[in-house]
Amino acid sequence: MRVPPLRSCFLSDAAARGAASLLALLNLAACGGDEDEARHPKPIDRPEIPAAQDIQTTDLALDLGALAGKATLVVVPSAGKVTLDVSGLTVTKVTLDGHAVTPEITSGMLQIPVPGAPDAVTVAVEYAFRARTPATFDGWMPSLGVSFVWPYSCSNLFPCDPSLSDGVSFTMSIAGVEDGLTAIYPTSTRGDGPAYMPAVAVGDYTELELGTTTAGTTLSAWYLPGRNALEDATKGTAHLVGAFDYFEQTYGPYHFGPVAGTVEVDWGADSWGGMEHHPYVHVGKFDFNDEEAQVHEAGHGWFGDGVRIACWEDFVLSEGTTTYIAARALEQVEGPNEWDYYVDDFLVPICEGSSHDPTLVNTIVLPDTCGEIDFVHDDLWSITPYMKGACFYEEVADVIGPDALDQTIGEFYTTHVGQAARMQDMIDLIEARAEASDRPAIQALVSDWLLSFDCPENYADRCRTHGN
Ligand SMILES: [Zn+2]
Repeated sequence: MRVPPLRSCFLSDAAARGAASLLALLNLAACGGDEDEARHPKPIDRPEIPAAQDIQTTDLALDLGALAGKATLVVVPSAGKVTLDVSGLTVTKVTLDGHAVTPEITSGMLQIPVPGAPDAVTVAVEYAFRARTPATFDGWMPSLGVSFVWPYSCSNLFPCDPSLSDGVSFTMSIAGVEDGLTAIYPTSTRGDGPAYMPAVAVGDYTELELGTTTAGTTLSAWYLPGRNALEDATKGTAHLVGAFDYFEQTYGPYHFGPVAGTVEVDWGADSWGGMEHHPYVHVGKFDFNDEEAQVHEAGHGWFGDGVRIACWEDFVLSEGTTTYIAARALEQVEGPNEWDYYVDDFLVPICEGSSHDPTLVNTIVLPDTCGEIDFVHDDLWSITPYMKGACFYEEVADVIGPDALDQTIGEFYTTHVGQAARMQDMIDLIEARAEASDRPAIQALVSDWLLSFDCPENYADRCRTHGN
């Protein structure tokens, strides 16, 4: 067992200059938790849901005024029952295939016996949920007008399985919205995504239509009132349609329907970064004018949401891959070059150990376990997997060529979209598709960037410079 870092509650220097996805949220959640618990985390104590159980679809009808919901799930049962995490909910009524059943809840787990061996059953759960506060940042927060259940707080908003392995296709309807405000949410996510993906944002939104990609995906930005609001939205999304088009044309079709976009959210004083709530990603108000933040969240439609990670130890498959493809797409559509930003603002302080910011702590970004770390208390929950992961891909591109790497990333995406995968699967595919003569160099990069604590020699130039 490792000693967890002492996380503190301050806005990082890096975040103050604008940050990649989630960076500010690292601080938010660290601030939200009990400080003593952060120093002495309990062992992972998640309820057991059989891995063979499969929640196929979840229809969510939420009344944000009444703080009440009805979730209708189609589930493939396991071990003769359906097991759902309802630990943040007050369950009032449960039906199984339309017949009322008496809810049996043990340690926050709703267990419903399923007679016979049906392929799938329909479970409907009516419940009340609590309003959450920005201090805990783990559910519907009326004071901010936004929901947030990453990484595994879905059961504060709806009955769920927080496991990364179980992807779910969501439909949603929202009631109880204050007059004059607009709720932005997907009526359907169309494809399977992680349990932390669905979200709603409520505010005085104005829609900015951005355009349509070659494949026909229509994109919009929804921005909040404020000084320079339209200018900021326009600046941040200047290359968003182009980058989205690049992802679709290069890696494969978008998984979450024909309409998508980006929603400005007010997360309070820490409104940096974003969250991959596809098809309507959230981007913090301080970063809404930042092209990297916008394209990064869009990129999670391919990695993180489209292809889920199999365990939190594979965080680099989500964040490292997305950080790389965001920079790659922006370069290819003549947007800004992000490599100096990645290296100078994040990689150097990580590698030099020169920052007191707990999100810039060095760590090995690809642990050799799966499902064993206490993620939110582990150094892996930092900006380090974003940057070392992006550098790994950048250097692989230097060896095999960026177009060849794009082709492999696309093959990986089309093979695994809608499923969970491991970073090792990506490494294996990159090696398999490379010339035999390039494989030793690729294996050295795996070791340098993913499996080593120390950053390699000349790390800054190696990462930022294409072609070497
Ligand atoms: Zn991200």
